[in-house]
Amino acid sequence: MSMPKIAAELLVERLVDWGVDTIFGLPGDGINGITEALRRHQDRIRFVLVHHEEAAAFMACGYAKVTGRLGVCLATSGPGGVHLLNGLYDAKLDHQPVLAITGMQETQLLGTGYQQEVHLEKLFEDVAGYDVMVHVPVQVPTLVDLAVRHALAHRTVSHITFPNDLQVADADANPWQAVAPARAPSTAPVYIAPPGVPRSADLERAAAVLNAGEKVVLLAGAGALGARAEVVAAAEALASPIVKTLPGKGCVPDDHPLTTGGIGLLGTEPSEEAMESADTLFMVGTNFPYTKHLPPPGQVKVVQIDIDPATVGNRIPTEVPLVGDAAATLQALVPRLQRKTTRSFLDGAQAGMREWREKMAALEDSERDPIQPQYLMRVIDRLAADDAILASDSGTIATWSARHFDIRGGREYYLSGNLATMAPGLPYTIAAQWAHPGRQCIAFVGDGGFAMLMAETLTAIRHELPIKVFINNNAEYGQILWEQMVLGFPEFGVRHRGVADYAAFAQANGALGLRVEKAADLEAAVAGAFAHPGPAVVDVLTNPDEPPMPPKVSYEQAKGFTKAFLKGQPHKATIASTLFRDKISELKS
Ligand code: FAD
Repeated sequence: MSMPKIAAELLVERLVDWGVDTIFGLPGDGINGITEALRRHQDRIRFVLVHHEEAAAFMACGYAKVTGRLGVCLATSGPGGVHLLNGLYDAKLDHQPVLAITGMQETQLLGTGYQQEVHLEKLFEDVAGYDVMVHVPVQVPTLVDLAVRHALAHRTVSHITFPNDLQVADADANPWQAVAPARAPSTAPVYIAPPGVPRSADLERAAAVLNAGEKVVLLAGAGALGARAEVVAAAEALASPIVKTLPGKGCVPDDHPLTTGGIGLLGTEPSEEAMESADTLFMVGTNFPYTKHLPPPGQVKVVQIDIDPATVGNRIPTEVPLVGDAAATLQALVPRLQRKTTRSFLDGAQAGMREWREKMAALEDSERDPIQPQYLMRVIDRLAADDAILASDSGTIATWSARHFDIRGGREYYLSGNLATMAPGLPYTIAAQWAHPGRQCIAFVGDGGFAMLMAETLTAIRHELPIKVFINNNAEYGQILWEQMVLGFPEFGVRHRGVADYAAFAQANGALGLRVEKAADLEAAVAGAFAHPGPAVVDVLTNPDEPPMPPKVSYEQAKGFTKAFLKGQPHKATIASTLFRDKISELKS
């Protein structure tokens, strides 16, 4: 006997129509109907059971980042939905299409202050561009269509909250008399992206500005990740250094002769210098926020490509905004560019890069104990596959991954760029591994971020996802510690007592767990983790007194350090010796 269809099945079936095959989430009594619908359709959508809803939202965001498709997460009413929020903000701020589905208390109790009555449609108003509560089963397919289309079109979060009595209602139930001059909503699960190429008059204006420039810098961001060949072709013609935002790191290989790597505090000196002396800035797929690291307005003429007409021109006065897809727009633009014959600006940047690479190599000292975080990152870099996907946490860990992990071949790199939240590295990696079972997926995390969502290690183990987790374990919140000092304050509240043993936790639960305390043991452990067929956690005790240095130390920053030292900064001696040693290594190189 076939079971009568319940309304929650309309939701699941419509998601299938949209091509959704994965939902990350955690059950609860506010979503029993949806969970039952997922059970009934488990051959078409895979439900990835996680340990914390925040991680489910990060996974949906990470999944969207690595696949370019919609990410979907599911949480129960009240607390489950509240837990999603941070991961949803991550998706919103990094422009990822994510659909959040939550439960709501049953309709007859709404407004009575019943248990778990949290009005998630109000709570999510700010994070979700499309935000709706289901009121009657017949509207479900259309609400899904509108939610998915909105998320894809605006690269943002949509939210549907579904009262649990309606979830288990008969799919055909429509108890109310229709009074509007309208039929029941009826739509199709279709979306098509807008045409990606700007008008030719705009392309001509852009080409004129770029052709007139003598020192053109190309700043490539996350929106240019799919436009490697086109970015290189444009930079080649313009003889312009390619500077990459951190989320745009994967755009061009780090050893490509045209790139000067990153920009900003985690960037490189040659990028900084290129920006300082540029006369023309060509921004491609970036909304780079740290405007102090861009040339001052007035110094440069700006051409900017962005897919979003509301974003282009937001950071710096822009001569020619080009609204379009980075790859398609560059394909149309490059034939209009004249190959620059004077290439000394680029030559200078390339020479600067050779020096910068030597400086970085000097910091990757294999001899030091405690282990240098830069050395840890470089060993992972050397031994990782050419198509590895690496997700980095926020904090000093981002400095090490920005500078000491290289994009080469088909490698990809992700982090929480604009929310800069703690703890996405592990769930992103799980989502990446889920999407790409055959690729090497690496989480590069600090002990602070890892401890927050470490239960997701169990998610990897239980779903047999062979992720590789490397923990830069310095038993401190490093980024904050250094920020306190730069502001002139001695550190406070940034170190837990004792050092946790994450390898033992991993090992006890069925993963490979390795703890490394000596630099001499590092290579074998990293190689062992990569060779291991299942999930592996390598817990590496690193130097807690290693400062993440900006590309150029400003007078204000140095003054802050000095003040903190004078006011009684603990660990002065080791910090000073690290700073001093780094300076010597730099000078020696
Ligand atoms: P986004 O802000 O995501 O912008 C991407 C743009 O591309 C959007 O405007 C979007 O509309 C557009 N777009 C999307 N798709 C397309 C397409 N197909 N075609 C054209 N346009 C498209 N970043 C740095 O660069 N340097 C740092 O030193 C740095 N330090 C950081 C430190 C930490 C601890 C953390 C967590 C983050 C740090 N970041 C750093 C990240 C930084 O906060 C910003 O997130 C980042 O600079 C923004 O990069 P973006 O402009 O490429 O990405």
